[in-house]
Amino acid sequence: MRRLVWRPAELISCVAETESARTLRFRVPGWPGHLPGQHVDVRLTADDGYTAQRSYSVANPTDGDLVELTVENVPDGEVSPYLTEVMRAGDRLEIRGPVGGWFVWRQESTAPVLLVGGGSGIVPLMAMIRARRLAGGRVPFRLLYSLRDPARRYYAEELRRPDPGLDVTYLYTRSAPEGVSRPARRLMLEDLAEGGWPASAEADCYVCGPTGFVEAAADLLLALGHAPERIRTERFGPTGG
Ligand SMILES: Cc1cc2nc3c(=O)[nH]c(=O)nc-3n(C[C@H](O)[C@H](O)[C@H](O)COP(=O)(O)OP(=O)(O)OC[C@H]3O[C@@H](n4cnc5c(N)ncnc54)[C@H](O)[C@@H]3O)c2cc1C
Repeated sequence: MRRLVWRPAELISCVAETESARTLRFRVPGWPGHLPGQHVDVRLTADDGYTAQRSYSVANPTDGDLVELTVENVPDGEVSPYLTEVMRAGDRLEIRGPVGGWFVWRQESTAPVLLVGGGSGIVPLMAMIRARRLAGGRVPFRLLYSLRDPARRYYAEELRRPDPGLDVTYLYTRSAPEGVSRPARRLMLEDLAEGGWPASAEADCYVCGPTGFVEAAADLLLALGHAPERIRTERFGPTGG
């Protein structure tokens, strides 16, 4: 197995996704490349040598030595407020990875794909959507994106652009925009039945978000008859240590 090493990473640019989240683009010399769905470890070191480390999914398909992360500000968090509010272009931190070999989409796969994301759980799913588009992929993708309200949408403009074979459904949990008939509520069986694939399609299902969301969504997919080995999950629980 390849040994993971910490590499210096320089922030090249950042853009706001929402009021509380931003996408950070890093240059990581020597980066070995990654698969859509993988994550990295990020390490910050203070002047006194104190370090803090967290995991973040990679948002971009592999692209030389560029690594993009989208980070949600967790109020009172140790690392995410620094990444979302303090860090400026030219600043450095360390990145280690890529990590994870199961929650990945490979472009040679021919199965239809269901992506189910809750909140910032959209990030690795977006890497898959972008990788498919970049490769001119024809495998159909369906994205169910659960979020509190429209102001929380990541990648809003990009997901609005036509992308043949990609269907996007927003599922609002707190407040839905005018004209949307589905009332704001948590993900339910009918959401997956209507916006997803029938079990007979033998789709590969990728579910990512907060632990509770992931467990609920995976249970619903099982209840709909999807095969357990086709359901891949990534839980965005607290990290660190
Ligand atoms: C594989 C993996 C990939 C991840 N990818 C992303 C990503 O792409 N974007 C992203 O924004 N985050 C992602 N996370 C979450 C991330 O690792 C951190 O947990 C998060 O940024 C909070 O770190 P912090 O230092 O700001 O907060 P901390 O100082 O660690 O925690 C502050 C408080 O917030 C709570 N808390 C911490 N993390 C979470 C959380 N995720 N959900 C709810 N409460 C929490 C803690 O229990 C604590 O009470 C990922 C986690 C994993 C395991």
